[in-house]
Amino acid sequence: MKLIFATANKGKMREASEILGPGFEIVSSAGMGITEDIPETGDTLQSNSLQKASYVFEHCGGADCFADDTGLEVEILGGAPGVHTARYAGESKSFEANMDKLLAEMSRMEYEASIAREFGINTVHATRRARFRTVVTLILGGRSRFFEGIMNGKIAYGKSGKGGFGYDPVFIADEFPGMTVAEIGEEQKNSISHRGIALRAMAGYLKNEI
Ligand code: IMP
Repeated sequence: MKLIFATANKGKMREASEILGPGFEIVSSAGMGITEDIPETGDTLQSNSLQKASYVFEHCGGADCFADDTGLEVEILGGAPGVHTARYAGESKSFEANMDKLLAEMSRMEYEASIAREFGINTVHATRRARFRTVVTLILGGRSRFFEGIMNGKIAYGKSGKGGFGYDPVFIADEFPGMTVAEIGEEQKNSISHRGIALRAMAGYLKNEI
């Protein structure tokens, strides 16, 4: 079955092809000639995911397609960066700049909490716990469906590892303690990741539908 994936991100493409397996022919929207940034102006992951899938649907003659939108939600940052994850450090969308800003913001919050405690001010105890949440939108025969996936873990104190993409070098998943997701290998990441969970749910749905 052929599906267009609304992305120009090579890391996401590689993961999606691996997760969905040989029964699916996955073509990126970039490969279909959509080279501009697909708009994502919503204020929830679901609305952005639907917006990206709808854009591809309209620009590719109503073809079956899917999109994902992912947010990193960090406890000590009150759930930020959330829907702003891709552009946390600004429009450049550089993975390095985004991770640097995340680590700096978390240190600042931890420092402020420690000063407050020194002055006897009671602060809510927030930790480095975090999760990735993905919402996948599938448009099949013109109808949309949503699938969600979550990966729980915590944010490391520094970056390590060369695998994956995005914030993987600073994220430690609960299933692989002591290593960042950038260090665990692609197969292991796909077996536990937010995107793996959501895309396997989509594949299960498609197998029943077709
Ligand atoms: P979007 O879904 O492309 O909008 O992704 C939002 C942000 O989350 C981007 O900065 C991505 O790099 C980051 N991101 C998405 N998926 C992953 C992942 O699997 N690991 C690490 N970062 C991710």
